[in-house]
Amino acid sequence: MFNSIALVGGTHGNETSGIQLIRNWQQFGLPSRFNELNISLNIANEAALNANVRFVEEDLNRQFTFDRLASNNLAKEAVLAKTLNEKFGPKGNSNTDFVIDIHNTTSEMGATLIILEADEFHIQLARFVKQQMPEANILVEDEKPYLEHGYLCTTGKRGVMIEVGGQPQGVLREDVYLLTQTMAEAILDFCVAYNNQEIKTGALPACEAFRLGENVGFPLNRDGARTAMIHHSLQDNDFKPLLPGSPMFRTFDGKDIPWDGEKETYPHFINEAAYFKLDVAFATSERITL
Ligand SMILES: [Zn+2]
Repeated sequence: MFNSIALVGGTHGNETSGIQLIRNWQQFGLPSRFNELNISLNIANEAALNANVRFVEEDLNRQFTFDRLASNNLAKEAVLAKTLNEKFGPKGNSNTDFVIDIHNTTSEMGATLIILEADEFHIQLARFVKQQMPEANILVEDEKPYLEHGYLCTTGKRGVMIEVGGQPQGVLREDVYLLTQTMAEAILDFCVAYNNQEIKTGALPACEAFRLGENVGFPLNRDGARTAMIHHSLQDNDFKPLLPGSPMFRTFDGKDIPWDGEKETYPHFINEAAYFKLDVAFATSERITL
């Protein structure tokens, strides 16, 4: 039963879709079919929003591990995380049944629902969303237990992220906004149906999903400078199969570097701008059925 749901935008201050969706729902109200739900509308990092940056000092969406929440870190986002943890959590003993945190990516990931567990509940949610929104992608990040993630959404008893792209940082695109709104409403429709005990796993068709593998870094020289860029045949092909031997990088002196995995992988977060400093080129995933 969902007694309390927190919808969050602006965890990253330059990811505009969620921020605008929250503002619009604050101003014009949520669709009336959600009246029976207890939903709070929240902007997480106002300071980052005002500066139109992802974060002011540290990435807010990495601050919500138990270690970090207990630390004496005085960075703006570390302090903010403790406040938000009081508001939505406290993590591990949460007052909020469900935290839905809305993000954008510069990668062509379309509307992606990120779930952190592949248990019965999340399988039902994934199937429901995919049924309502066949163009949605389901990404499973269950490489570690739910509570070990540093994500803001883990302050809730349950938490998921909406990740929509491609959209440049700080820019609001209507097509990306509409995908964000559609996915948020699909998740809330699920909450209504779940509360009314209308959700049966067997009644929902199994759906395609992608399980996170690992990050692939850009090739670097001895000085740590990049020697290649994403190959044009990989660029914008998030969640499409990358076959062994297919090019993934083009070096600056004109050579192709192929994917050398043993089998196909499904790249995503391809050329994500926010991972620039980390030299992450993309993440791999395996195609699964939920
Ligand atoms: Zn984000």
